[in-house]
Amino acid sequence: MGHHRISASGSSRWLKCFGSVELIEHLKASKMIPQRTYNAASQLGTAVHFVVEQVLLKKRKLKSFLGDMILEDGMKDEVLISKHELACARICIKYVKEEYKRTKKKANGKKVKMFPERKYDLTKIYNAPMGGTADITIIEFGGTLHIIDYKNGRMSVDVNDNSQLRIYALGAFYRFHKKYKFKKIKVTVVQPNDNHVDGAIRSQTVSVKALLKWEQKTLVPALKKVVSKKGKLVPGKDQCFWCEAKPHCEAYLKNKPKMLSKVMANIIPTTTINTLPEMHQLSREQLQHIVDDGDRVIKFYQDAKAHALGLMAEDRGALDGWTVTPKWGNRKLVSMAVITPLLQKKGIGPEEVTIAKEERIMTVTELEAYVNALKGWNKDEVAKFMKQATTRTQNGYVMYRCDTAADEFAEFIEK
Ligand code: SF4
Repeated sequence: MGHHRISASGSSRWLKCFGSVELIEHLKASKMIPQRTYNAASQLGTAVHFVVEQVLLKKRKLKSFLGDMILEDGMKDEVLISKHELACARICIKYVKEEYKRTKKKANGKKVKMFPERKYDLTKIYNAPMGGTADITIIEFGGTLHIIDYKNGRMSVDVNDNSQLRIYALGAFYRFHKKYKFKKIKVTVVQPNDNHVDGAIRSQTVSVKALLKWEQKTLVPALKKVVSKKGKLVPGKDQCFWCEAKPHCEAYLKNKPKMLSKVMANIIPTTTINTLPEMHQLSREQLQHIVDDGDRVIKFYQDAKAHALGLMAEDRGALDGWTVTPKWGNRKLVSMAVITPLLQKKGIGPEEVTIAKEERIMTVTELEAYVNALKGWNKDEVAKFMKQATTRTQNGYVMYRCDTAADEFAEFIEK
């Protein structure tokens, strides 16, 4: 069973943008976008999924993966399994094992089964090439059908009404329900790398009736539009965010300014008098947007500031009201060959500036304090000596706001 044209993992997109499946296929066929895209994060995720699968299938022990280089289907580069990846996989494996044990205990002798990496093909059910692979499926006779999905990313995945997991659940439902007579459907996301308020493991349980209602009200009508080949392109923040067609999609490009202004309004909410709101004035939805997107905006501004600093340091265009100044590293002592004669001139032997117990020369601060406080040198003598006895290397530039002309010409005024 190969990849399905209408994948469960892409459902958050095609359930909202019905024409996206067709457009992506067209762009791939005309080589305008690659057949497959690889990035470091997704490859790392594939590698951790492989570790989880192998351990649950009892093919290998978890610890044996430490330091392994993994190259699996869906990857282009080898990925190193470090302690962190092992810890993430362990969280998922532990939860699955405990859940399986709990279900068995609760089932009291009734049939319970667990399947890692189970493929579900729903093509015949919906007359549409749809399906996908659920990371873990646990089925309990007369009880719960449980789908568990591991997510390695940092962007929080919402488990509630999650279409990808519901499609897996429907796949398992049509495959096993006749024999197992499920009463409830549980879906779980295990996501150790995000900092979700509800923790790394989040579940939602619904009745079979609720799942089938969602199927009839949401899934089936959307699928009909997708396979009709007349499905519209419907741009929106959620569906366009990860869409491969984005660079070539006219609907997206046309709507981009509108969507961006909506995103910006969500990230930077303002009050009716155009001021920034107090924290207690933020709604839960606003807070959600700020937390979801804030880091990207902060990074954007940091990158812009670094870019401006680079241009100004290279003297390639100043920005009004800003100036740059060299950033100096900490002072370091020059060699003792230079310092010793300077001290001897003042009647100080090198042994006096040596900390015998620790077999070292005084630090810059200790030396400065010593000649000042214990030897009674005056301010100018200390300054002159320290200038000769220490050195500092330039460590790039810093930019700062100069609000007045005096600031800008301060270095000349000082001279
Ligand atoms: S970019 Fe947006 S509008 Fe265009 S195909 Fe993708 S999801 Fe649809």
